[in-house]
Amino acid sequence: MSIKNCPKCKKIFSPVGGSLICRECMKLEEEEFEKVRNYLRDNRGADINKVAEETEVSTKKILKYLREGRLEVSEGMAEFLKCEKCGISIRSGQYCRACSKKVSKNLSSLLISKEENKSGGAKMHIRRN
Ligand SMILES: [Zn+2]
Ligand SMILES: [Zn+2]
Repeated sequence: MSIKNCPKCKKIFSPVGGSLICRECMKLEEEEFEKVRNYLRDNRGADINKVAEETEVSTKKILKYLREGRLEVSEGMAEFLKCEKCGISIRSGQYCRACSKKVSKNLSSLLISKEENKSGGAKMHIRRN
């Protein structure tokens, strides 16, 4: 059985399902994520700095959640996250819809936002030519 040192707390643990950090740290991370998510649910359009302040979760981490597509930016925060390729505002993930399509041709389709099939106010950018 393989044993690892948790990069966060330095404790020794045995990775389960390819996890990079120990179970306790994973739990903490989950709690932080929940805090941010709950805060955003109750405070739609909150500024990222405000969110970080209120939840005590760093903006860097919040940004990571967004990039991973675990969180999405509400309308009021749309300016915060930019497509890494073309720089337009996006709500979740790394790329806008157009770019993620292009990227997915080369990489995998993982980056395509799950937003696509959700109607709830998500803006679509389909050109009808
Ligand atoms: Zn740990
Ligand atoms: Zn783009």
